Amino acid sequence: MFDFLSVIVNEIRSYFVPEKITYEITGECKKCGKCCNYMYSYDTYTEKEFKIMQFLFPAYKRFYIKGKDEEGNLIFACKMVTEDGLCSDYKHRLPMCKKYPAKKIGYPGQLHEGCGYKVNVKKFEDYLKR
Ligand code: SF4
Ligand code: SF4
Repeated sequence: MFDFLSVIVNEIRSYFVPEKITYEITGECKKCGKCCNYMYSYDTYTEKEFKIMQFLFPAYKRFYIKGKDEEGNLIFACKMVTEDGLCSDYKHRLPMCKKYPAKKIGYPGQLHEGCGYKVNVKKFEDYLKR
């Protein structure tokens, strides 16, 4: 339970605390809809935790649990994505949707296969070249 409380605190902090690592993103969206249909959460591990998150952050009610991967991690999807892979609520999409793929996260992002974007991670040597 303590772990989950720290998840909630971190969720709130994420709105205010700027991350220190910035990744370079290149490319553009091909509108395939994969990122709206298959999502992972790095801090919500059980259905019960997801229900609590939806209660605390009602904006997450647009998401649902689609299934689990072979390692038992929850896979989420959005109710707003159309069969064509487009957003049916584009005007009111969440900040996380507008920022996708996030440039400021604490770990290198992994994109869906075939995604039009590319996350360019700088290595230590790249910084030395400057
Ligand atoms: S997975 Fe990539 S290309 Fe497909 S909709 Fe999402 S951002 Fe666009
Ligand atoms: S609100 Fe729109 S852009 Fe955001 S996950 Fe849902 S369908 Fe995708």
